[in-house]
Amino acid sequence: MGNAVNWSGAKPQADLHTHSSASDGELTPVALVRKAHAVGLATLALTDHDTVAGLDEARVAAEEVGIEFIPGIEIEIDFQPGEFHLLGYGIDPHAPALLAAIEKLARARHERNVAILERIAHAGLPLDTARIEALSYEAYLGRPHLADLLVDAGCARTRQDAFDRYLGKGRPFYIKKTCLPLEEALSVITEAGGVAVVAHPYSLFVSKAMLKRLFSQWKEMGILGIEAYHPTAKYGQCAILERMARERGMFITAGSDFHGKARPECGLGRTAGNMPIDARFRDELVSALRDLRRNSAQ
Ligand code: AMP
Ligand code: ZN
Ligand code: FE
Ligand code: FE
Repeated sequence: MGNAVNWSGAKPQADLHTHSSASDGELTPVALVRKAHAVGLATLALTDHDTVAGLDEARVAAEEVGIEFIPGIEIEIDFQPGEFHLLGYGIDPHAPALLAAIEKLARARHERNVAILERIAHAGLPLDTARIEALSYEAYLGRPHLADLLVDAGCARTRQDAFDRYLGKGRPFYIKKTCLPLEEALSVITEAGGVAVVAHPYSLFVSKAMLKRLFSQWKEMGILGIEAYHPTAKYGQCAILERMARERGMFITAGSDFHGKARPECGLGRTAGNMPIDARFRDELVSALRDLRRNSAQ
């Protein structure tokens, strides 16, 4: 439906959900910032999965090119049946509680990678698992990377094919990841001086009636924002999320979830229905952060 909206002429001004090579994005933090500048964005938030490793570099690069930078993170939350991702914005990348939580997640991720690799080896697929195990000690390594390795080894045609055959939920090499409980992720973000926003709520895979109840609970517990606009949902469905959030006095954001070539459908600065992300979303987020700072200073 909303894909029929004509955005011609409007230019993207911000992007509030992006990934760099510090997690599973294609571009380095510096290259991502330069691209944001090149496409004309005035504001960029970097929200890598479970890591703050790219934030310092990105901040320096943003100062150099003269765009506003908002440090962020995307943390996966324990949830069934779908996926629950919590975004944190305006975080201090050096906050001890945040670093401790990230360390814990990295350890769990590593253990899971090793378990997945054991299954791959057991199945007799030709992967250099020793090399990968070494790699996963050093840097963020997730299923998308393992999928690429399966492709390189000739076991799958594409990353998606590797998920469909081996790594996706219910497939033979799928192992559940240890995630943070919502309360813990929220308190980690809050302690790091950040504001929490629920990412792409439709990925939770619950009914709209259930989402409404959850929105109210989240608001109650101190999650102030909803990422209403995300490229995986239709524009009209996103507008419904915006209304649900507004009814509860929550602010809304929009993002591309840019990963680079791996997900070419998500162009930097654009979101659901190819809508260019307007500065109004940035303004809502920045004013929520300002309120938070003001309240905590009192
Ligand atoms: P991980 O955190 O290691 O479990 O990897 C999660 C990432 O894998 C997500 O952010 C997606 O990019 C990707 N992913 C998860 N499930 C699928 C799927 N069924 N097909 C393609 N990509 C997927
Ligand atoms: Zn990702
Ligand atoms: Fe996400
Ligand atoms: Fe994301």
